[in-house]
Amino acid sequence: MTERVDCVVIGAGVVGLAVARALALRGREVLVLEAEDAIGTSTSARNSEVIHAGIYYAKGSLKAQLCVRGKELLYAYCAERGISHRRCGKLIVATSEAQAAQLEAIKAKALANGVDDMRLLTAQEAQQMEPALQCVAALHSPSTGIVDSHGLMLAMQGDLENAGGMVVFHARVQSAKVVADGVELSMADGMQLHAQLVVNAAGLQAPGLGASFEGFPQQRVPKAFYAKGNYFTLTGKAPFSHLIYPVPEEAGLGVHLTLDMGGQAKFGPDVQWVDNEFDLQVDPARSLKFYDEIRKYWPALKDESLAPGYAGIRPKISGPGEASADFVIDMPADHGVPGVVQLFGIESPGLTSSLAIAEYVANGLAA
Ligand SMILES: Cc1cc2nc3c(=O)[nH]c(=O)nc-3n(C[C@H](O)[C@H](O)[C@H](O)COP(=O)(O)OP(=O)(O)OC[C@H]3O[C@@H](n4cnc5c(N)ncnc54)[C@H](O)[C@@H]3O)c2cc1C
Repeated sequence: MTERVDCVVIGAGVVGLAVARALALRGREVLVLEAEDAIGTSTSARNSEVIHAGIYYAKGSLKAQLCVRGKELLYAYCAERGISHRRCGKLIVATSEAQAAQLEAIKAKALANGVDDMRLLTAQEAQQMEPALQCVAALHSPSTGIVDSHGLMLAMQGDLENAGGMVVFHARVQSAKVVADGVELSMADGMQLHAQLVVNAAGLQAPGLGASFEGFPQQRVPKAFYAKGNYFTLTGKAPFSHLIYPVPEEAGLGVHLTLDMGGQAKFGPDVQWVDNEFDLQVDPARSLKFYDEIRKYWPALKDESLAPGYAGIRPKISGPGEASADFVIDMPADHGVPGVVQLFGIESPGLTSSLAIAEYVANGLAA
């Protein structure tokens, strides 16, 4: 017999949980199907935990809009729910005159996105804030911060459950078929489930899963690319209280320093294009490049002070050398198939944007 449910969200990462919570708070019956045995074990557990300000994204893009809105919602949600977070601010540091010339353009891009609190600093001003820093000039973003992403996901799961929703673990969706009154899901264990609405929030696996949706226009499902980001942790204490970012590079934001809520410093992520989403080992040899990059802005970094940390894989839908694609939130009003929402390419700033993505989906379905 086929079980029937109102809404299914596939994937209990931060985005799937945020969407499930939003739908449940609007009175819908929601089941989250998660392949693993816990929430947030994939990309949502392997990121920098930075609340991004919304600086770098193209004006009018979903990334720009949802990051800026998501940041506001996230700070408010963290305060309301007592989720560990800190508005520590970040410095984008130019270590050459050529890079210094780019800071003004970064500030203008941020302003176009509604981020109006950025301030250009001279080298002296930046060093007053961070005495260990070497730079030619810097840009200060006071609204950048850090968050305990697991605490965030637990709060979202709690809200979902309080509103009557549920997360089911060990529940891998194998394929889906669009039918007259919704979507039929085939589970890996052979079970069948019928839902009026299915939200594909499977992260790295969203394009592959989207391609299995019989009756969904396949030309709308992008190809998946995987850009691994490796982190190295600092042994000992970092002399910084702000996040420190270089001027951004292709496909990532450069080897930056972030702090976690416990004050531990880590560097990364770098960019390593890989063939699959399972390649999560950090090659210690990559530290050589890290030492070079970090010493451009922190010359006092000691030899042998970096230890391999962890890696995360960016769920990209644009390949090496291509401009980073925008988030794809493919709603029934866009593709014409009632009962299906596909989320593709939810890379950074997906954590920051999670509550805004959820709002976008819930509003779009209510319209
Ligand atoms: C290196 C790195 C650094 C980042 N840093 C930041 C940052 O500092 N700030 C920021 O805002 N964003 C950052 N991001 C982006 C952010 O981490 C992601 O956008 C976000 O975690 C995506 O969440 P998600 O729920 O879409 O996907 P995931 O967290 O990948 O969740 C998807 C879930 O779906 C499940 N699943 C997959 N297939 C199936 C299936 N068939 N059936 C059932 N379940 C399935 C998986 O097990 C997983 O739990 C970073 C990303 C990376 C890779």
